[in-house]
Amino acid sequence: MPDGTESESRKLLKRLREVMASSDAGQTRLDKITHLIADSMGTEVCSIYLFRDADTLELCATEGLKPEAVHRTRMRLGEGLVGRVAKTGAVINTADAPAERGFRYMPETGEERYSSFLGIPVQRLGESLGVLVVQSRQARQFSADEVYALEVVAMVLAEMAELGAFVGEGAALSPPHQRAELIRGVSAQEGTAEGHAWLHEPRVVITNPIADDPQRETERLHAAVEELRIGVDKMLQLSRTEDAEQLQVLETYRMFANSKGWMRRMEEDIARGLSAEAAVEKEQSLARKRMMQAQDAYLRERLSDLDDLSNRLLRILTGQGQDTGADLPADPILIARNIGPGELLEYGRTLRGIVLEEGSVGSHAAIVARALAIPLVVRAQRITAETLNGDHIMVDGDQGLVHLRPDDSVVAAFRDKIAMRAEAQERYASIRNTPATTRDGQTVALVMNAGLMADLPSLDSSGAEGVGLFRTELQFLVHNKLPKRSELVALYERVLDAADGKRVVFRTLDIGSDKVLPYMKPTDEPNPALGWRAIRVGLDKPGVMRMQLQALIRAAKGRPLSVMFPFVAQFEEYRDARAEVDRMVERERKLGHVLPEQIEIGAMLETPSLAFAPQKFFEEVGFLSIGGNDLKQFFFAADRENERVRRRYDTLNVSFLSLIERIVERCDGSNTPLSFCGEDAGRPVEALCLAAIGIRTLSMRPASIGPVKSLLHRVDLGELRKRIVDARHRGEQSVRPAVLDYLRSLP
Ligand code: PEP
Ligand code: MG
Repeated sequence: MPDGTESESRKLLKRLREVMASSDAGQTRLDKITHLIADSMGTEVCSIYLFRDADTLELCATEGLKPEAVHRTRMRLGEGLVGRVAKTGAVINTADAPAERGFRYMPETGEERYSSFLGIPVQRLGESLGVLVVQSRQARQFSADEVYALEVVAMVLAEMAELGAFVGEGAALSPPHQRAELIRGVSAQEGTAEGHAWLHEPRVVITNPIADDPQRETERLHAAVEELRIGVDKMLQLSRTEDAEQLQVLETYRMFANSKGWMRRMEEDIARGLSAEAAVEKEQSLARKRMMQAQDAYLRERLSDLDDLSNRLLRILTGQGQDTGADLPADPILIARNIGPGELLEYGRTLRGIVLEEGSVGSHAAIVARALAIPLVVRAQRITAETLNGDHIMVDGDQGLVHLRPDDSVVAAFRDKIAMRAEAQERYASIRNTPATTRDGQTVALVMNAGLMADLPSLDSSGAEGVGLFRTELQFLVHNKLPKRSELVALYERVLDAADGKRVVFRTLDIGSDKVLPYMKPTDEPNPALGWRAIRVGLDKPGVMRMQLQALIRAAKGRPLSVMFPFVAQFEEYRDARAEVDRMVERERKLGHVLPEQIEIGAMLETPSLAFAPQKFFEEVGFLSIGGNDLKQFFFAADRENERVRRRYDTLNVSFLSLIERIVERCDGSNTPLSFCGEDAGRPVEALCLAAIGIRTLSMRPASIGPVKSLLHRVDLGELRKRIVDARHRGEQSVRPAVLDYLRSLP
């Protein structure tokens, strides 16, 4: 194809299709393809390099290089020109390969004779599969047309690989989606799970990347885009105009659906021999590549909109809907790029585990997964591309690892781990109804954190003595509009009914920072964690807080009520919030509602400033609960959402423990009930230390109650406290080593 014309390109693709349709073994197909390409491009060499594993490329077929180098020549990602193409995903087109930066001579291939080099990445939807190379003796730069034509061929190769065309006797490739893979992500909810993959958005499979009637394909594309446009316009008409974010997405859809450039590029690809589906996917791949490289968050979002739109278009073209007809497996592990909290709740507790390609530890989906106690791994790279519906998966939520199609040894080791957990659970169940009393006779109240009605059954199963923190924002986060007061009354009433007399501490709406309501106008703040959030919003715009307080008062129906305000930084804020409660009680009285038998009003201590509030605050406040997650991030100035710093400072750092001790002392001095409800309360070693320095109520995830209680039973808190004081006197930064020493010395 020296002139790179469209008809030459089509001819080549037609011949490739014949190869694909043949019953040849994978290796024979690869050999034939290199021959065809070299012939068509008029080059002496054509080679296909494919990934052996994530870091190694292997020469899998060649026309022109020494045949004995096939399956022998290997290079690491980034090594030589081929490795560089694979690593960067960028084309290398040079008339003088040996002079090119990073050139590495492979003597076994005999490539020294060839001067010009054109290397094209073989990629599918952003996933790198290998490199396609042509070389020739004559020192010449390949034309833009030739590069483009070879890119189209590379795309078809990627589709063929996806369809398993190169699998078989003598081939280097194992079938796609059959190899065992270990995918690393970030742990967002601990626990382990084994099950079968359920793709939230099943991938569209293209079975016909090549087509020989460009006119028909163009017509199909036009018809599909028209259908897409009509669909987008309909969505725009139906959408609620006040939802700015949704509107923005739909407007972006419309912009792309009407984009001439997008259409033109796809038409050009069709003219070169691709089917309409393959042309859409080629554009989608390019958008994904740019999305991965984009630094700008706004641009990334828009490219991700284009990705969604391409999926819609592919579904129209292929007729493959969301519903593939497959049944949800009995033990589903949900795989998704990302998922909203509402959708996740719809799956509910049927899920064994969740793996997200994007997402973050503090995302709404993570909050829901945590509330449902489902192991969750986020930022699991390539998981949606690597997984097929029904694949066997093991999720290690403790380590943030995903074993996809694990081999027998991994399965055995993993099942051991699950069995050990199950054994431990049995032990915890046996102490469910015993108090958490230590060897030296001190008793710690263990209560649980909750946020959904679905959490309440855990009160019984975990043996929690009550709910120390009910995060009310989850109800607001999972809907796409503000819940009505009557809905809140009904929910809070059911929560109190389910608690059956056990104390439930409702925390008023804690929004802002990472918790942004989908229907709330986003505020553009330079530093949202230190911004307009929680009680600050509640006091400045009291409408929602008042509605919530009324709902709580009504739901109590004469029963005792406990309410606490999040993120109080100074006395005044507490007083103002309390005054709101008084006003609402008065209003409810006038309206003739039964009032709670008693109302306790507390505050969360989440900013260091509150530990130094006037003594009068400690006397006035009904109770205090330390929100350790926030308190720690502000004390160490280390963002709890930032992977780089969030584990940098130890909770058992003596400075942090001194702050907690000070709070304990101040509460003791005024007889103010105090509890701790951050994640650390549920970590056994941290929980022991908090108890040793005087915290007598710990609120944690229900699954942590057993492990914490079982450890408390074994220790002498007086002795532990002595060890902590000694470590501090020795000038140690963290008391952790001393505490672990003590634990090791236990019988
Ligand atoms: C905390 O900050 O410790 C806390 C319990 O609140 P949240 O995690 O909901 O911010
Ligand atoms: Mg908090």
